[in-house]
Amino acid sequence: MERVLITGGAGFLGSHLCDRLVTAGHDVVCVDNFFTGSKRNVLHLIGKPNFELIRHDVTLPLYVEVDRIYNLACPASPVHYQHDPVQTTKISVHGAINMLGLAKRVGARILQASTSEVYGDPEVHPQPEGYLGRVNPIGIRSCYDEGKRCAETLFFDYWRQYDVDIKVVRLFNTYGPRMHPNDGRVVSNFIVQALSNQPITLYGDGSQTRSFCYVDDLLDGMMRMMDTPKGVTGPINLGNPGEFSMLELAEKVLALTGSKSRIEFRPLPLDDPRRRQPDITLAKEHLKWSPTVNLEDGLKETIAYFKTIL
Ligand code: NAD
Ligand code: UDP
Repeated sequence: MERVLITGGAGFLGSHLCDRLVTAGHDVVCVDNFFTGSKRNVLHLIGKPNFELIRHDVTLPLYVEVDRIYNLACPASPVHYQHDPVQTTKISVHGAINMLGLAKRVGARILQASTSEVYGDPEVHPQPEGYLGRVNPIGIRSCYDEGKRCAETLFFDYWRQYDVDIKVVRLFNTYGPRMHPNDGRVVSNFIVQALSNQPITLYGDGSQTRSFCYVDDLLDGMMRMMDTPKGVTGPINLGNPGEFSMLELAEKVLALTGSKSRIEFRPLPLDDPRRRQPDITLAKEHLKWSPTVNLEDGLKETIAYFKTIL
């Protein structure tokens, strides 16, 4: 059994990861400053002997003794990461430096939750890991995109310079139960709007695409990556290659909820990527992983969750 630190452990992905690792019997330390996450997400774990919750901001150093670190702390929704963009870059960059420094000191293996945003608005489709991306360095998404790119740089420099045992996964859009109702990302927005009979806010003409991975699939891939031998560093894409336009997504959510909400078109945010789809050849080869939950089934689970909390 390992001592595992999860930063951002009270967030959407982090809390599911806490569940999995606690259930597997690991000693889990969940660190979060509750910016976008919530104690409610891990309330059911509090009191278990192999779970510990620490309020801490990863831009400050942390001293704990662990064997493995999943570095997930960072707001993931454009609405939230653009709220305080300077802090967003600090979270990615200072957070990576602090967690890599910790990994170096205690000899821990460390996994970085990077993102498909490192590809920016891509000219290559689908996106393989070798594609270097087309990211605007000065736009409103740059605090997140460039912060995550710099974090990847730090991971690879700690590996080359200090032999730290790193793993980098690039996550594509992931959804599921425990997304915050005010998270601002498209799946939670559409479901909350449909269930409360408010207009569905579709940005642009709705032809932009995303590929949505269900949380359970994503965590399978992430945990498999963590278990690979030292030297398997990635970066490796994790996501579901099924690609849908936002209009298709809106129509699916309306059909599955039986909602009478109408679609309301709003301006497309600046630098909103046109298309996104992961090339998961490497994940299939190195992790023997590919997603199994299709969009409709994943949406049904997510809708059922939002019905319980709204
Ligand atoms: P989330 O916003 O639900 O979780 C992020 C967590 O980090 C929250 O609990 C938040 O309170 C915490 N946090 C933020 N700043 C912190 C700080 N300074 N110190 C400590 N904790 C802090 O988002 P999520 O979807 O669970 O994303 C988790 C990670 O995965 C993020 O790093 C995100 O960039 C990455 N990612 C997610 C997706 C996705 O679609 N869900 C896609 C690509 C990458
Ligand atoms: N989007 C939308 N309506 C919303 C929220 C998002 O049409 O209420 C669009 C957004 O413009 C983008 C896509 O959905 O094209 C995915 O947005 P999200 O914020 O979920 O993730 P990201 O852009 O980071 O992939």
